[in-house]
Amino acid sequence: MRFPLALTVKIASHIVKHKILKTPKFAMVLQLEPLHTCNLTCTGCGRIREYSTNLKDMVPLEKCLAVAQECDAPMVSICGGEPLIYPKIEELVAGLREQGRVIYICTNGVFMRKKMRDYLAAVYTPTLEPILKQLLEGKLISDKEADTIRNANESACRKVVIRPSKWIYWNVHVDGLEFTHDLIVEREGVFKECIEAIKMAKILGYQVATNTTVYKETDVQELEEMFKFLSSLEVDGHTISPGYEYDAAKKDMVARLGKQPEDFFLTRKMTRQKFARIEEWGKLFTIFGTPVYQEFLAGKRELTCTAWAIPTYNIKGWKAPCYLMTDGHYDGYQEMLTKVAWEKYGVVNGVARDPRCENCMVHCGYDPSGALGTNYQRGDNWKNFAYNFGRKPQPYLASPALSKTVFNGVSVGKGHLAEAKSVLNSPRAAMNGAQAAFSRKEENHEAHVGTHCGTADTSERDELLAKIKDAQK
Ligand code: SF4
Ligand code: SF4
Repeated sequence: MRFPLALTVKIASHIVKHKILKTPKFAMVLQLEPLHTCNLTCTGCGRIREYSTNLKDMVPLEKCLAVAQECDAPMVSICGGEPLIYPKIEELVAGLREQGRVIYICTNGVFMRKKMRDYLAAVYTPTLEPILKQLLEGKLISDKEADTIRNANESACRKVVIRPSKWIYWNVHVDGLEFTHDLIVEREGVFKECIEAIKMAKILGYQVATNTTVYKETDVQELEEMFKFLSSLEVDGHTISPGYEYDAAKKDMVARLGKQPEDFFLTRKMTRQKFARIEEWGKLFTIFGTPVYQEFLAGKRELTCTAWAIPTYNIKGWKAPCYLMTDGHYDGYQEMLTKVAWEKYGVVNGVARDPRCENCMVHCGYDPSGALGTNYQRGDNWKNFAYNFGRKPQPYLASPALSKTVFNGVSVGKGHLAEAKSVLNSPRAAMNGAQAAFSRKEENHEAHVGTHCGTADTSERDELLAKIKDAQK
């Protein structure tokens, strides 16, 4: 089967239950943002620009569990910010599992291996030695880390950890091949770290999904290479969605990067061009999302936005009307359902009810529409059924040629900062101290990837860019 039977049945029965009860609006996926702090500053990310990224601003664990209970969505996507920075992430995952939910931990991948080492330390017995050997051979853990796992102290053994489960997915953010991904997340080395984390997760028996945002500059051919590679790693599923013009991201782009939003984000017309082959990808790769949503993305039909089916809860409350746009926050999910004038949002038959919705085709607004039958056409139920219960696409064969295509950035000395590095190596740059700024940046980069979380503070990079500009004069 394309997706695990237990999961498919759980979601299908949730829809059937509410159809029988004639519930007008109900939640399918809760997007839970326990914090907005992140260790990266991705171009196009609205979260770190719209909300406070102070670690003091977090949703308490008990509240996270209470809101999941309140909206009763069968799936919870824990996002943020970077959820692995949330101090109680393990307890949150355990609590949501006790409630019987399917959990997606949406992560940029940087802290994943650390969390999996915590898991190994908590469950270590000598029977795990063959696994440790495999991880060591793949350079996925170091000798020192293997020893820490073997000699875990009592507190490490007692720690609540994220264990492999058929109900839990690591959902890793991957926006393209190495060069593109590192450019979008604005830090070299992140793509490689994500891939190593995915490999480690698969060896340990975790389920892994990826999520990809498609921007105007995204090369469709590159996406296909990315899917082939992820398929060769036996990744279990992929979410792919067009980028959206967040107001906060828009302002940041103009001010900081000197880019115009229309240079970066997609219009509806462009989305349809980029997603013209989505149905083909659905056959070749394990793409999440209904075939009805795929037809919508490919421009073959219209759908009505059902943003209420994928509600977002964050430090300010229930965010309305959707994950992307903020017109208000509410204390309760039912209160939000009742008070929001949903008929004012979305695009109906090509006409935007709200100008901000005009170019939006994102999965959190329209994927549930495909599952809920809001624009039902004859045969849709069968299509969705056949897709979910159909044969899982075969994993793509790994090959050195494919790896060479994929690692096209910093791994081969062509990262997006390569040009900057060459400028900084010039005698003029040495004279004005730009190299020193760069080394500081590199040291900080290591610290970010390895151990601690940062905030969305871009001052270090801005300082570096200013030095580079001076060096080029
Ligand atoms: S990883 Fe990137 S997209 Fe995700 S919250 Fe952090 S900055 Fe935003
Ligand atoms: S169309 Fe998009 S932006 Fe508008 S309410 Fe729906 S999900 Fe939000």
